[in-house]
Amino acid sequence: MHWRNYFIPTTKETPKDATAASHVLMLRAGLIRQLAAGVYTYLPLGFRCLRKVERIVREEMDRAGAIELRMPCLTPLSLWDESGRSRTMTDVLLRLDGAVWDWAAGLVLGPTHEEIITELARAYLKSYKQLPINLYQIQLKFRGEARPKSGVLRTREFLMKDAYSFHDCKPSLDKEYDNMYAAYCRIFARSGLPYLAVEADTGAMGGDASHEFMVLTDAGEDRVAVSANGDYAANLERATAAPPREGEAPAEPPREVHTPNAGRIDEVCPVLGLPPRQMIKTLIYTATEGPAAAGAARNLAPGAGNVAPGAGNVAADPRVGRGAPRKLRIVALVRGDHEINELKLNRAAGLTLELADPETIEALTGAKVGFAGPQGLIDRIDKLIIDREVAVLRNAASGANKTDYHVTGVNPGRDFPLSGDKVVVADIRTVAEGDPSPTGSGSPLHLRTAIEVGHVFKLGTKYSAALGAVYLDQNGKACPLIMGCYGIGLNRILAAAIEAHHDDAGIIWPMSIAPFEVLVLALDPRDEEVMRVATQIHDELAAAGIDVLFDDRDERAGFKFKDADLIGIPLRVVVGKKSLTAGGVEVTERGKEGKPIMSPASVVEQTVRRVREELAKLAR
Ligand code: ATP
Ligand code: MG
Repeated sequence: MHWRNYFIPTTKETPKDATAASHVLMLRAGLIRQLAAGVYTYLPLGFRCLRKVERIVREEMDRAGAIELRMPCLTPLSLWDESGRSRTMTDVLLRLDGAVWDWAAGLVLGPTHEEIITELARAYLKSYKQLPINLYQIQLKFRGEARPKSGVLRTREFLMKDAYSFHDCKPSLDKEYDNMYAAYCRIFARSGLPYLAVEADTGAMGGDASHEFMVLTDAGEDRVAVSANGDYAANLERATAAPPREGEAPAEPPREVHTPNAGRIDEVCPVLGLPPRQMIKTLIYTATEGPAAAGAARNLAPGAGNVAPGAGNVAADPRVGRGAPRKLRIVALVRGDHEINELKLNRAAGLTLELADPETIEALTGAKVGFAGPQGLIDRIDKLIIDREVAVLRNAASGANKTDYHVTGVNPGRDFPLSGDKVVVADIRTVAEGDPSPTGSGSPLHLRTAIEVGHVFKLGTKYSAALGAVYLDQNGKACPLIMGCYGIGLNRILAAAIEAHHDDAGIIWPMSIAPFEVLVLALDPRDEEVMRVATQIHDELAAAGIDVLFDDRDERAGFKFKDADLIGIPLRVVVGKKSLTAGGVEVTERGKEGKPIMSPASVVEQTVRRVREELAKLAR
């Protein structure tokens, strides 16, 4: 490919809001152009990279035995009604408004395809003999993301590989899950990503298992906890630490202390002379009777958290459906130095909780906000959820349920119950930096920022039950199909690769997803000999099947080198008058030191070998 005839609009200018390295570099290197908020054109270089990622994903999915198909972007709203997600995914589901054509009002742009594939399964997968099967596609998704961010990391239109597997028993799903997990490891390794698989939240309906594949970088929007010795990694939403040890100090009697205007932990600790870890935070929530719907508006695809009517569990609460729903009062306790984790809390409660307003808090505790404590509340509330770290405290302090007063010498079990119908002791806090790993090794957990590039999820029968997708088992009995789903964001692979591999001058592409593998750069394009040698090297590399770009532009050397660093092609062959006089051409690797001179006769063979070596290394 001759640069002169190609289209690589590199630029120095980037918008102020572009802060993530991948965003800045993709714009500057002429890979993408923003058309509208969260909507991008892939320019030729960017499109080449995306196609390479797509090829890796397709090869590995095919190798893993998944079968490719293509579902439409336009999907009937009625299917989303059937699953219940037209109600839970309100902002994300992009509907056509039907102002001009009535039929359009019945369509939405697919943000993910569980409903669509389940409709297909309902139509065709009728017998256990057809199972297991894994169907996938590589296709555009549309989501009403409220805040598109960091270039192509979070957009409203993006390319996803989504796979869905169907099974007649749990072991078969487990096996395919492991198979997909392994395929994902190969995909990300081949793409040159330093990835990490972490345990992920499975939503309030308690799906079975879920892992997210993460790339650690500050440009991400996810938080993960990773143990120092690598024996544990989980999304912060789900991460747990080793259980606490029972406190041993002898119990002191409770004592009321005047703490005027000191309603917050940081205000009251100095007054009481206690560290925050000795404080009990008392948080008051309300909920409406009914099933848990935690996380309903969150994760979409790999199924997390969206409640599908009829998908099990819903019938678990015997009070549902009896008269008008009652407002419940729930009190949660966490240590003063800990943050409550609302996903864990909702799961422990089996309900979707909301923080109570000041009036409700005052009515319940008889005190202003900031002075609530667990003592004496149990008869006035529906549930007391105690973090397991609070349950082992000795001689702690809490609000006194009296404005401007706290109590010290509070002892769980004596001053508030640790068991009983209304009491739940559970892990309901977010892990903190330095907490011990839950594996028993005690290795400290570190909190890091990451990008989610992929997600595997055991869905179970959530969608098949909701849509009535059943097969006949060996005894002729109709059973809902057991499902798994597996998503990868292709655009995010590109951006994450740049986050992981760049320097001040530009991108340093992994060989496997670079737009071109080799750049031949002619330093003196007006010199006949230089052009003859450079053209020959380019042509021979192309003939050997190498993706090669030839910078034949009549520009200054410095300008061309800057562009070369920016677009980040891994291998560079520089042909100039000076090097030819010195007996050859200069070969450099982007991001590495050294400029060995090679003879024009051997450079092609050596370069081809180097490209293959690098690709093989990534595929190992
Ligand atoms: P996030 O929490 O980042 O919004 P998600 O949980 O909604 O992601 P999934 O529904 O699991 O994502 O989608 C599967 C994959 O699609 C993700 O792992 C990610 O790589 C990609 N993806 C999801 N949303 C976007 C987006 N708005 N822009 C680009 N890629 C996305
Ligand atoms: Mg999302």
